[in-house]
Amino acid sequence: MIFKFGLRTQIYLKRLKGIVVFSEGFVKFLKSEDNSNHLNVMEKVEHIGIAVRSLADAIPKYEQLLGTPCYKTEEVASEQVRTAFFRQGETKIELLESMSPDGVIAQFIEKRGEGLHHIAFAVSDIRAEMEKKKADGFQLLNAEPKTGADNKLVCFIHPKTTGGVLVELCQEKS
Ligand code: ZN
Repeated sequence: MIFKFGLRTQIYLKRLKGIVVFSEGFVKFLKSEDNSNHLNVMEKVEHIGIAVRSLADAIPKYEQLLGTPCYKTEEVASEQVRTAFFRQGETKIELLESMSPDGVIAQFIEKRGEGLHHIAFAVSDIRAEMEKKKADGFQLLNAEPKTGADNKLVCFIHPKTTGGVLVELCQEKS
């Protein structure tokens, strides 16, 4: 059976398809936990990373927006970023400013402007979780856990395999 849709309907259907494809990718990512192993789970959203041009400008703005003071700033030299943290209940907001003009955050802002950069999930065993995600077809951006801000071991997952969201796994360093 062939339906002829008007242009507006076609555009609408195209958009709808885009949303469905995105949602399927993200749901697949969220469901990638194997319930048979309860030790390896994405425990909670640990923090949300936001790329900003200037911490000096962004910190007072976010303090006003969130109604909570920035409790820590920290440089992560290996990533060429300066970070600022806010606590929002169980979750944190992490602002990221590039320390160099060609750092990853500078490149991100150049391409996409300031804004949402990544979502970080707490895990209890980052190596096990990395193995699992790799086996499930997600592309890890670092083969070994690396030292991130806030006393964490971190690993990033490529957004092209998670429905467009840069995902961070993070484990509290013991
Ligand atoms: Zn982060």
